[in-house]
Amino acid sequence: MSLPPTSDIPASGGHAPLTDPRTAYASERFPGQQQDYPGWTGAMDPVPDHGEGSYHGNHRLDGLAALITGADSGIGRAVAIAYAREGADVAFTHLPEEDSDAAQTVQLVEDAGQRALALPGDLRHESFCQDAVAQTVETLGRLDILVNNAGFQMSVDSLENLETSQLERTFETNVYSLLWLAKAALAHLHPGASIINTTSIQGYHPSSTLLDYAATKAAIVSLTHSLAGSLGERGIRVNAVAPGPIWTPLQPPTQPVEKIRNFGHDTPLGRAGQPAELAGAYVYLADPSSTYVSGTVIGVTGGRYLG
Ligand code: NAD
Ligand code: MG
Repeated sequence: MSLPPTSDIPASGGHAPLTDPRTAYASERFPGQQQDYPGWTGAMDPVPDHGEGSYHGNHRLDGLAALITGADSGIGRAVAIAYAREGADVAFTHLPEEDSDAAQTVQLVEDAGQRALALPGDLRHESFCQDAVAQTVETLGRLDILVNNAGFQMSVDSLENLETSQLERTFETNVYSLLWLAKAALAHLHPGASIINTTSIQGYHPSSTLLDYAATKAAIVSLTHSLAGSLGERGIRVNAVAPGPIWTPLQPPTQPVEKIRNFGHDTPLGRAGQPAELAGAYVYLADPSSTYVSGTVIGVTGGRYLG
């Protein structure tokens, strides 16, 4: 299965061409597929679109440095590509078993003419979160944008099957690391810097099979608001993006195969989103000209409402 090109409606009467959001990407059902956790980009059918062939930068982040967690693949990779093409150097974390995906992200950032730093490790350890920030500043010379994007989910069919080990893993990865990274980054963030968190539609409309994950995403919404409140007086903006169903390596290892086949089909636009479709929101929130944007959550959900 391959992703079709966007279905542009030709320009007429001097208007810019439109893209039909229903058919901008594959809207047929996905082939049934599973992978071992954490999942790899090249094993997905179709391979996700991270904007490799479509994102055009416009110097919006020239000279800045970003640290993005989980940018080996998925949404994080799309953000890394966009930030690099907007002129930022990019450090990013990934799990050690994701070296092959991480190497591709490094290549994409370097192809944009920016410096890339891949940081393998486990965000469930505060010491790694501290190291990731320290190495970013040491190598890139500064830190202006922290994107807390790494996340863990695993669907369970009933509460009885929710093991404490999973509960700990979900909260440590999604919530604890966000606070550890933000805390470590504070010493380096100057007025105008920003923190961007990846929450989810699940933080607003929780699925019964993702109850621990959904709770962490609601916590991230709360932390986005409270951190915006506490860091405003330092001139640091804090915002979040809430994706709907996005086609990334997180999904095949963590959802039943039937969910994968129908992934995204219950949205108003009738399809799953691609990582590339998230990049603009992360760029807007990081852009130094977004001077009055803090404490907000941007939904990129294919038509589902937040709230
Ligand atoms: P992804 O699998 O491509 O990215 C998630 C990354 O998290 C992994 O690549 C991995 O490097 C990192 N990670 C997980 N556990 C880690 C740990 N303990 N230590 C270090 N890194 C770890 O999937 P994605 O969908 O792009 O996920 C990015 C974010 O988007 C996550 O926070 C996810 O919850 C969120 N999100 C995804 C969807 C979706 O439908 N794909 C929807 C809403 C929110
Ligand atoms: Mg990955």
